[in-house]
Amino acid sequence: MFDWDFCQIQYNYLDENIQAGKKGLLYAAEKGLPVIIMEPLRGGRLVGMLPETAKKRIAKSNVNESAASLALRWLYDQPQVTCVLSGMNSMEMVNENCKTASLALPGCLTADERQLIEDVKNDIKNSVKVGCTGCNYCCPCPKGVDIPAVFQCYNQLSEDSHARWRYIQMTTFRKETTNAAKCVGCGACTKKCPQNLDIPQLLKEAKKELETPMFKIINWGTHFFHFY
Ligand code: SF4
Ligand code: SF4
Repeated sequence: MFDWDFCQIQYNYLDENIQAGKKGLLYAAEKGLPVIIMEPLRGGRLVGMLPETAKKRIAKSNVNESAASLALRWLYDQPQVTCVLSGMNSMEMVNENCKTASLALPGCLTADERQLIEDVKNDIKNSVKVGCTGCNYCCPCPKGVDIPAVFQCYNQLSEDSHARWRYIQMTTFRKETTNAAKCVGCGACTKKCPQNLDIPQLLKEAKKELETPMFKIINWGTHFFHFY
């Protein structure tokens, strides 16, 4: 048993209840531990990779905050948050984040900002077919299905014309294929999914859209090649 100096958790407005989440944040703070936050912008998904509906909503809103600032203010608003780690690729980002951090204090979030964040969350949820966060808790599948990879490609279908090709690359060009068709519906994965996804059913839907006749031909052809 060791004393803890601090803890670090993934936490942002979309992942409020994933992994340690809000519950973990409150628990650690109650024990007197400083809490460091990672993935505050979810690897950019809460900024540049937001769906267009959410980007427009933020731009049109009377809340005068950028997508990044909103996400950071949501964190700084909570007194249990000690420090926020955010990756920055330009001086512009550094300046913006410094400005946000210098103005945001616990309790800073206005009712309008809170509502805007709720609306943006709904935009994000409505923009994807499967609410898979890629946490991998459902893995390994006993039949070898790469569940997060299948859902990643399925979600990309609507906005990325290469999603089907990426699916072939990710699940077929390998020693053991990992595609959705391998699922036997045993349900072992669903019990482990923190998002309570009906994984076997969603895999069936993903298979229907991703495993086209072209996929089947390429999949059959890979039997004649040796992959490592
Ligand atoms: S339901 Fe399908 S994906 Fe889930 S563990 Fe069983 S075989 Fe694997
Ligand atoms: S299906 Fe569920 S458990 Fe598996 S990676 Fe996605 S969110 Fe995580």
